[in-house]
Amino acid sequence: MSIEEIICIDPGHGGKDHGGGSNDQFKEKEMVLQISKEQKKHFERNGITVVLTRSNDEYLDSYERTLRVKRSQANYCISNHINAFNGKANGAETIHSIATNGKLAEGILKTLVNEGASYRRFFSKSGKSGKDYYFMHRMTGHVKTIIVEYGFADNKEDTDKIINDWKKYAEAVARYYIENVFDKTYIPEKEIASHNVKNLPKVRSFSKYPRLVKITEDVNAYEHPNLSKYSKMLREGTKLKVYGEGENGVWAAGGGLFFSKKYAVEIPQTIRTGGLTSSNVDEMENYFRKNNLEASVQFVGEGKNPHVLAKIKGGDYEKFCKWLDENNWWYKVM
Ligand SMILES: [Zn+2]
Repeated sequence: MSIEEIICIDPGHGGKDHGGGSNDQFKEKEMVLQISKEQKKHFERNGITVVLTRSNDEYLDSYERTLRVKRSQANYCISNHINAFNGKANGAETIHSIATNGKLAEGILKTLVNEGASYRRFFSKSGKSGKDYYFMHRMTGHVKTIIVEYGFADNKEDTDKIINDWKKYAEAVARYYIENVFDKTYIPEKEIASHNVKNLPKVRSFSKYPRLVKITEDVNAYEHPNLSKYSKMLREGTKLKVYGEGENGVWAAGGGLFFSKKYAVEIPQTIRTGGLTSSNVDEMENYFRKNNLEASVQFVGEGKNPHVLAKIKGGDYEKFCKWLDENNWWYKVM
């Protein structure tokens, strides 16, 4: 898992600190925890690891909270809050560090407005020392933290919106990060296939040769006994590394993920051999001819370093690798 695929989510307050953005309908610490958990779900479905600063009603002082952010290995942190002021103020706010431009904060604010929140402002604020005013910016090191204030708990209109729309808000913010920070195509919940466990084939054989498989349509026939996180990412065009294949089933992404072969199209693999003599090349040509392999083969580097670039599909690819193994030829799957 690369560092780029981790995000830290900080549900503000907790424990004895209920948060100022509370009213008789919700406590800020509870509302932001459920928003954070909702966001976690959307990130994880999209393949991004989430580290929460707290996952229950735990009190964290600023030191402990920011330590957890820094230790998360994330480059980005969302700190979720609900505002309160004078009862009249309303709308969503996003706050970024004085060390960053406001683009991300502005984008998040606009995405919340698209979901029906009122536009208030995005901003940064410095304290007397000239450093960030908010500790979530001042004490989180290199992590780019955005404080998201979803609305005002002491404003009736905002309170109603938060109660009705907190799930929408949560998803919109997660989606914004997935698309704009992690640069991924967002996979919404509804596109995920339900699992049909009964009709799944058993995997019969395993191969040491990884293979790329492209899912041609959203799959209604796969199960995820171990890798639920990854199986949820399956959709049209998904590319997976596959380690073996039974009659109908395919075993994917490190094991534990099955789907029907009829939904999978194998992407040809490119294999680069090395250290060939001209007789090796002849042998290889014969091999392809004899086995009638569907391969596009390119002989490269005459003289000095002759090698073959072979693009081969599915089972043929596996056969070819076996044959190369038997002949003790060096090769590399590109
Ligand atoms: Zn707060």
